[in-house]
Amino acid sequence: MTDETATFAASATRATPIESLPDALADGAALRAALAGRTPVLFLDYDGTLTPICDRPKDAILSPEGREAVRALAAKLPVAVVSGRDRADVEAMVGLPDLIYAGSHGFDIRIPGQGEIALDGLGDHVTLLDQVAVMLHEGLDPIKGTLIERKKFSIAAHYRMVADDDYPAFRACLDRVKALDGVKEKTGKKIFEFQPDIDWDKGKAVLRLRTVLDLDGEDKVPMFFGDDVTDEDAFKVLPSVGGIGIVVAGPEEDGTGRLTHAHFRVTNPEAVYRLLEVMVD
Ligand SMILES: [Mg+2]
Repeated sequence: MTDETATFAASATRATPIESLPDALADGAALRAALAGRTPVLFLDYDGTLTPICDRPKDAILSPEGREAVRALAAKLPVAVVSGRDRADVEAMVGLPDLIYAGSHGFDIRIPGQGEIALDGLGDHVTLLDQVAVMLHEGLDPIKGTLIERKKFSIAAHYRMVADDDYPAFRACLDRVKALDGVKEKTGKKIFEFQPDIDWDKGKAVLRLRTVLDLDGEDKVPMFFGDDVTDEDAFKVLPSVGGIGIVVAGPEEDGTGRLTHAHFRVTNPEAVYRLLEVMVD
């Protein structure tokens, strides 16, 4: 590390008010100083970062302009999309098959040419979901109208077609599953879903991806773009690896008391596209 980047990293470990951050687009000199000649590795959130936030997730469409900005940069630098959406969903929304994708907040990673990568501890999670599946089938198969749906990182039990009289037996089976060590239950519309109770977030996903992609040298600088609370997990780990966090936050966030671990800000997805275009040149 140069003295300049060491100072930068040390100064960026505390949460700061969002309005005190330099604008990465307007203050290009500050961003170049932080990069210090290193090669960026891009990590991009999707909703609220590459698209405006929408009431309905399916309406958060990436504009052709935004897609072109991401595509052009990905032709020159490694680009990963890290989203809370299911991986297949965010892959379809972005529509650029050659990118790296981390869905489910990084649970589910796919790298072009390498395929899907297993996360530490997820061998156990497959066994755990197998165990949950056996218990659910034993308890629910005799109950008319139940539907068990095995997913990659969870298993769902649907009860929309279950008679009211059968519901207590249905629920009793789920209570036995819920009591298993390492299982977390989530509730939805006429559905309960079980997933591994794993300590995992976008920060851990970024660190994992750097290692797996062999992009953890001192000549590389991870840059994470995000707008939301889950992105702060990534911003927090970046100083430890010489990285740069860029929060997407409009002027309406100023003076709200919102604190961030990011180092720069941009005001909206259009500003993200502009910044990506500048970085291509
Ligand atoms: Mg977001």
